[in-house]
This record gives sequence, structure tokens and C-alpha cells, in this order.
Amino acid sequence: GIRPLIAGNWKMHGLRAEGLALARAVAAGAGGVAAELLVCPPATLIAAVAEALAGTPVAVGGQDCHEREKGPHTGDVSAPMLADAGARYVILGHSERRAEHGETDAQVRAKAMAALAAGLTPIVCVGESEAQRLAGEAEPVVARQLAGSLPEDFAVQGGVVAYEPVWAIGTGRTPTETDIAAMHGAIRAQLTRGTGGPAGARVRILYGGSVKPGNAAAILSQPDVDGALVGGASLVAADFLAIAAAA
Ligand code: 13P
Repeated sequence: GIRPLIAGNWKMHGLRAEGLALARAVAAGAGGVAAELLVCPPATLIAAVAEALAGTPVAVGGQDCHEREKGPHTGDVSAPMLADAGARYVILGHSERRAEHGETDAQVRAKAMAALAAGLTPIVCVGESEAQRLAGEAEPVVARQLAGSLPEDFAVQGGVVAYEPVWAIGTGRTPTETDIAAMHGAIRAQLTRGTGGPAGARVRILYGGSVKPGNAAAILSQPDVDGALVGGASLVAADFLAIAAAA
């Protein structure tokens, strides 16, 4: 089977001392965890956290990258810069970036191509709003986002998909297990359609949105759920490790 990936998205949290302490606490509890562990600190801490985690099984990732390698893009960080700082993964197209920075599917796809070119594994986020789910549009919305956001060779290159319903992020609400299984199944079907075939079957599809120690086992045991993208609970090492232990 697919080795699960438990990824922590720290979002805009963490000054140096607390970020390093959190990373070290995760690494200290990582022994014996079957799942792959990943922490995605804010950009300012990627190099320091990568250094602190060197030689441990915990990987480091970014939360965004620019689609270009370098250039006149004040304030942006490129994929080669993330890799140079010690990142191996990068979260792309998170709903907070789509909402707050107007990121489009086409931009997310360009960023994913830049990440792959830099040797990073992109984690491309998709997910419907509450209005879209209530309108019965969740699956077509996610299908459109996938079609627009994933580069051609995404599956072959080992890209990761994260399904994060926008209304479940930071709210304590989650879809039912049945709804999670249905969406992940639909995503899997789309990834394996056509030429995606065998590679699409190996793509890790993470669930994100209010994953906590108390609901992790139920969510992670659903078919085609190959891990979790954890926000709030990833800021507490014991909670993040409890989620990982449920995978
Ligand atoms: P929460 O786990 O805080 O709901 O955040 C989910 C998320 O957005 C991870 O990327």
C-alpha cells in the first residue's frame, strides 16, 4: 500500500524559539511512527528547522512558492530557494492563498511545475466552499480544480493532493466519513483516468480540515485517504504525533 503522509501546516505561526522547540518535540516522538512526517513552518524558519531536523525522519516543507526561479518579485520565495533552505515538499494552492492572494488554478499549476523542476514534492490543495457543497457541487468543483491545478506529469513525478473542504478548515467541523471516502474516491478516479493510470494509483491523497487526535483514526481509515494535512493540531507536538500514530 501507500505509506501515509502526515503533514503539519503551521501557517503563520512560530517565532524562532517556539518553532524550533515544536520541531524538536515532533522529532523526539517520531521513532516508531509508521507514517512519513512532515512539518511546514513559515518561510523564515525553514532553514533553521531543516537544520534542527537533519538526521531525523521528519521532513520539512514550505507553504507556497513563486512560479519563477528568480527575478523581480519582491517578497516572494522561489522553489529552488526552498530546496536550498532544506525543504523537500511545498504546499501549493491552499484555500487561504486562493482566497487572500487570489491564486488561480493556472497559477497553482505553474507553481507545481516550478516545485517539481526544483526537486520538491508539491502538495496541491483543492476543496469546495460550504455553499458549493450545499448546492451539490462539491465533486465537480474539486474535479475542475484538479484539472486546472495539476501539471501533466504530476502523478508520475510523485505529487501529492490534499482535499481540504474550505468550510472544515479551522472550524472543528468535518465532512462525514462517507463524504470523505466519496470525494477521495472521485479524486482517485480522476487521477487514474486516461494516461495517469498506474502513477495515479500511487498518488497520496491527504485529507485536511479540523483533523484532531479524536477523529484521526476514523478519517485515516477511509479508503483512498493516504494521510492528513493538519493545521491547528500540528502546533501541539503531542496532538500531531497522536494523529500520526492513528495513520
Ligand atoms: P485545521 O487543521 O486548523 O482545520 O487546518 C487545516 C488546514 O488548512 C491545513 O492546511
